[in-house]
Amino acid sequence: MNIAILGLQGAVTEHISATRRAMEKLGLKGDVTWAKSRSDIKESDGVILPGGESTTISRLIEKNGLKEALMEKPIFGTCAGMILLAKQGDDQVAQTGQTLLGRMDIQVNRNAFGRQRESFQSDITFEPDAPAFLREKPFAGVFIRAPCIETTWGDVRILARLDGRIIAAEQGNCIATAFHPELTDDTRVHEYFLQKVAKRL
Ligand code: GLN
Repeated sequence: MNIAILGLQGAVTEHISATRRAMEKLGLKGDVTWAKSRSDIKESDGVILPGGESTTISRLIEKNGLKEALMEKPIFGTCAGMILLAKQGDDQVAQTGQTLLGRMDIQVNRNAFGRQRESFQSDITFEPDAPAFLREKPFAGVFIRAPCIETTWGDVRILARLDGRIIAAEQGNCIATAFHPELTDDTRVHEYFLQKVAKRL
């Protein structure tokens, strides 16, 4: 299995080590690569879009001609990565003219928690219909200028909420979290993504 961490900007190294740890836990053999080019993405079985600045990352995706390759792969997006997975943004997204990949039937609010709390940590309990191993114990959610999902449609499954806001969801082979699992020791969300990728191999 080859997992590509899109490394144009943002929290890349943490995702590389979290994904390696998740592979080890699941007993999966594979490589985790720092991906920058179209071929890096094409050669991978799944891609992680890290946090960072979604405007910058989307510009670099366009500039490097990566969009088409990203439309074909399973994707796990955290924070800015979640924004990029969305079909619809908010006023801020419209203003900056950033292009979204539109892989998930979700509408995002770019800085949902921003004005009240720049960054914070909060225990997350996954929804009752989320996979059992995610619900086993609370997940330490690290939020940094975090977005949230305002609405979902289609066959999106909501995985977690915080204060009534949707902060994790999945659809098909994509997962989005508003928080940063790569900044904790808990690799369960990464494991869940790897399980999705493994199913296709
Ligand atoms: N709110 C940021 C954005 O719009 C994302 C922040 C993050 O990834 N930590 O890109």
